[in-house]
Amino acid sequence: MNDLNDISLSEIIKLVKSKKISSVELANHFINNIKKGKKLNSFITTCFDQTIKDSKNFDKKQNFDGLLPGIPIAVKDLFCTKNIKTTAGSKILENFVPTYESTVTNNLWEEGAILLGKLNCDEFAMGSSNETSFFGNVINPLENNFVPGGSSGGSATALAASLTPATIGTDTGGSIRQPASFTGTVGLKPTYGLCSRWGIVAFASSLDQAGPMTKNVEDCALMLEAISGYDKKDSTSINRKKENYSKNLKRTIKGIKIGIPKEYRVDNMPKEIDQLWKNGIDILKKSGAKIIDISLPHTKYALPTYYIVAPAEASSNLARYDGIKYGYRSKKGNNLIEMYEHTRAEGFGDEVKRRVLIGTYVLSSGYYDAYYLKAQKVRKLIKGDFDNSFREVDAILTPSTPSSAFKIGEKANDPISMYLNDIFTVPVNLAGLPAISIPAGKDHKGHPLGLQLITKALDEQKILNIAFAMEKEIDFKQSLNRWWE
Ligand code: GLN
Repeated sequence: MNDLNDISLSEIIKLVKSKKISSVELANHFINNIKKGKKLNSFITTCFDQTIKDSKNFDKKQNFDGLLPGIPIAVKDLFCTKNIKTTAGSKILENFVPTYESTVTNNLWEEGAILLGKLNCDEFAMGSSNETSFFGNVINPLENNFVPGGSSGGSATALAASLTPATIGTDTGGSIRQPASFTGTVGLKPTYGLCSRWGIVAFASSLDQAGPMTKNVEDCALMLEAISGYDKKDSTSINRKKENYSKNLKRTIKGIKIGIPKEYRVDNMPKEIDQLWKNGIDILKKSGAKIIDISLPHTKYALPTYYIVAPAEASSNLARYDGIKYGYRSKKGNNLIEMYEHTRAEGFGDEVKRRVLIGTYVLSSGYYDAYYLKAQKVRKLIKGDFDNSFREVDAILTPSTPSSAFKIGEKANDPISMYLNDIFTVPVNLAGLPAISIPAGKDHKGHPLGLQLITKALDEQKILNIAFAMEKEIDFKQSLNRWWE
C-alpha cells in the first residue's frame, strides 16, 4: 500500500468515501510508517491501541458526512488532548495528562479524524529548529543531520515523511511556515482569532495561532475549514460564520494585485532565495497578476519587537509552572520558595529560561516603558504598514525564510542567528494577519525552499486561491527516498 505515501489527504478521503479503503486499514498503514520512522524522532507520544479502536468504531458508522471521515491524524504536542499526555516538549510537563480537549483538536475529531499521536516540538514552541525539545531534536526527512525547522518540527517531519496524512501546528512567530518551508510542505498561519486558542499550551497569547500543515493547498483549505470557527471559550475568537474554504477553492490570479516589499530584500540573502522570489514573481505575472512594488518601512523593527513582546507574554504565561498545580516538582528545597526555584531550574530548558529572563526584564519597573511599551507602539506601526499596503494590493509575496534547512547544531549555540530565521515570518504575527508558505523550489543541495503569501485579516480564501494557482504553475516535486526506514 505504498502509494498512500504519495497521495494527498484529499485523495485519501476519496478512497475512504468510495469504500476502497477502511479507516482501520488507513490507521494500520500510518502506524506502520510511524514505527519505521522512529529515527526521525517526530513523535513524543503514540496511542495506537486507541487509534485502532476508534477506527474500528468509525468503520461501523453509516453515512458519516464530516470533512475527515476516519482519517488518522497526528498533532503537535502543544494541543491538550483529553487523557493523553501533553508535554509541550518540556520536562516540566513530561507527565501532564489533561482532563480536557483543545477546541481545535476537538473540531478535528468532530469532523471524523482519529488521533495517531502527539508530535515533537521545541519546548513551549520556543525555537526554530526543534532542538530545544526535552525529547530530543527531530530529523528532517530530506537529509539526516538537518533540522526540520521549528517549533512545529515534529509536525513538519511527520507530514513530509508520510507518518500522518496531514497535521496541525501552532505559529507564534513562524512555527508553521518556517518548518513547512524547510520540508517542502504547505503551512498556513490563520488570522489571529480564526482558530480557537482554548486548550493550546500558551506561549505568547497575543501572537499564538493554530493552523494546518499539509502536502498541498487543497488539503490546507480542508484542514483550515475543519479546525477554524468561533469558540466562546476563547475571548479573542472571532465571531463570524464558518467558511467553506475547500468548496470555494479556485485558481484565481488574473487581475489580482501582488505587492513586493523592498524591505524583505535583506543583506546577505542567499542568491537562491532571491532567485526563488523572482521565479514566484514571474509565475504570478505570467498568470495575469499585477506586480506592484511596495514598502513596509517598519519591517526592520519586527524582529526586535517580537523578541520583546513574545518573551514578555511567555514569562507571564509560564509563571503557572511552579510545581504546585502542574507536572514536575523538584524534591529539593527547604521551603515553598526554594521548591519553586528548584522546580523551574530543573524543569525548564535553557531557551525557555532565556525567554523568561528577557520577558521579566522588559516588564520590570524602570524598563517597562523603554522596552515593552515601546515595542507595543512599534507593533502598531508594523500593522499600520500592512494596512496601508492592503489599500493598494490584494496580497504580498515574500520568501518564507532567509535560508533552507540548516544542520543540526549549526545555530544551537547562537540565539541571535537562530532568531534571524524568523525575519520574514514574525511581522505577520505582530499584525495578526494570515500567511501561507508553499514549496516553491530547491537549493543546490536539493532542499526545499518556500514562498510566503500574506493578505489582510480574514482573507484566507484569497490566500488559498492564489496559492492554489501558484502551486499548479510551480509543480514542486518532493523527492524522498525513505532512507530512515
Ligand atoms: N522561532 C520563533 C521563536 O522561537 C517562533 C516560534 C513560534 O512561532 N512558536 O519564538
